[in-house]
Amino acid sequence: MPFSAYRELLEKLGTRGIRLVAVSKTKPVSEILELYELGQRDFGENYVQELIEKQRNLPGDIRWHFIGHLQSNKVKNIASFIHMIQSVDSMKLLLEIDKQAEKNHRTIDCLLQMHIAREETKFGLDEQELHRLMETVVALRETGKAKGIRIAGCMGMASLTDNREIIQQEFTGLSSVFGWLKKTLPTDHADTLSMGMTSDYQIAAECGSTMVRIGSLLFGPRTSTEK
Ligand SMILES: *Cc1c(COP(=O)(O)O)cnc(C)c1O
Repeated sequence: MPFSAYRELLEKLGTRGIRLVAVSKTKPVSEILELYELGQRDFGENYVQELIEKQRNLPGDIRWHFIGHLQSNKVKNIASFIHMIQSVDSMKLLLEIDKQAEKNHRTIDCLLQMHIAREETKFGLDEQELHRLMETVVALRETGKAKGIRIAGCMGMASLTDNREIIQQEFTGLSSVFGWLKKTLPTDHADTLSMGMTSDYQIAAECGSTMVRIGSLLFGPRTSTEK
């Protein structure tokens, strides 16, 4: 990634106050370090084992974002250092994050992953599941529980399509979920609407994104055997 291209992307995002998470899944430590040396500190990973190895071998001031599907039984392996878990898609997972965060005497920032795409295969909550989950969180907070987590906002992936209007619709829907979240749990000061990847971050920016997750634009395309 040439310095000028990285700077250009940062400038584009910066004028709108959008934060950049560099998605480094499948990329080696050496390539992450190159971007680190240009000043990038937020990196996103999808696989627990891969994340743990990279975290061990890279500078301690990197803020790691978990963006892949996370099994509850793996939370304990990343709870001591993870900066933000963007892929919370069940109450069970959220409660486990809370438990492991408290064990580590920290609060972990969480994003609720919403299913906004047409594809069946993508993970995430639908609106009904979101409402149920939030009712539980609000009730827990009222009794002084769930202090190990902060609901920092929501995340979603749009459909893989060239149809701009579909993507716009999906991002606009996620943006209104974000508004609802802020109102429903004001104590958490939700500030993160994570939407937009290489192919659709410009549309996401127009729809109110505050954080984009970009991989291939920064690191080059992943090979077909990589996910
Ligand atoms: C891989 C991935 C990205 C980055 O995708 P690119 O198209 O390479 O920018 C963003 N978000 C999630 C959840 C991903 O899994």
